[in-house]
Amino acid sequence: MSTFKKMVIAIDGYSACGKSTTAKEVARILGYRYIDSGAMYRAVTLYFLDNHVSLSNPRDITKALSQIHISFKVNSKGISETYLNNLNVEKEIRKMRISEKVSPVSAIKDVRVAMVEQQRRMGKEKAIVMDGRDIGTVVFPNAELKFFMTADMVVRAIRRQKELLENDRLVDLDEVIENIAQRDKIDTTRKESPLRQAADAIVIDTTHITVDEQVDEVVRQAVSKALKPS
Ligand code: C5P
Repeated sequence: MSTFKKMVIAIDGYSACGKSTTAKEVARILGYRYIDSGAMYRAVTLYFLDNHVSLSNPRDITKALSQIHISFKVNSKGISETYLNNLNVEKEIRKMRISEKVSPVSAIKDVRVAMVEQQRRMGKEKAIVMDGRDIGTVVFPNAELKFFMTADMVVRAIRRQKELLENDRLVDLDEVIENIAQRDKIDTTRKESPLRQAADAIVIDTTHITVDEQVDEVVRQAVSKALKPS
């Protein structure tokens, strides 16, 4: 267990800006727990799709949410993986069929209420890095450190396409751009907890910097915060 000061580090931002990659590495360096809140919304989406839950039927949604249990387990390589009702869904939730449906699902109030409650429970002991869209604004408005990540759209799409290819999925660049743009649009304009930059968030534009530089910046800020008398 880490002896580093226990803080909550919130990393929000647009789709495919490198939030998860950064958050994972920062958590490893600081000895913190990493929680991918986007994976939780993706797991809910998977359940809704596989169980034909209608997004326009509030009763179906309430019932489905009561049957969904999401957890994270660290695999033998030290990587956190997502489980839906005790089934490893890490690979499945990254597929385009989920990416195409996750933003409308995430815009539903009851879905957000259920996820935010779990996320707050996970962050109770602090020493956590959580990435998402509303972590610094809604889930942990008192987080010790908040970041907001952004990057040029084409750069983001090329990186996401490469990531998909690493998982043996060849997706046309235009399709990736369309999906990212569509998700950004829904995420920033929805009524419930839209994606917003928190007033006290530090902005990181990842267009021209490497993953190492992104990680260094977050860790540098965390160390500086930890050294300040609270
Ligand atoms: O982070 P990732 O891109 O995997 O998130 C997938 C989707 O989940 C986002 O496009 C957004 O619609 C939703 N999400 C959210 N709130 C969060 C995290 C993700 O609405 N805190």
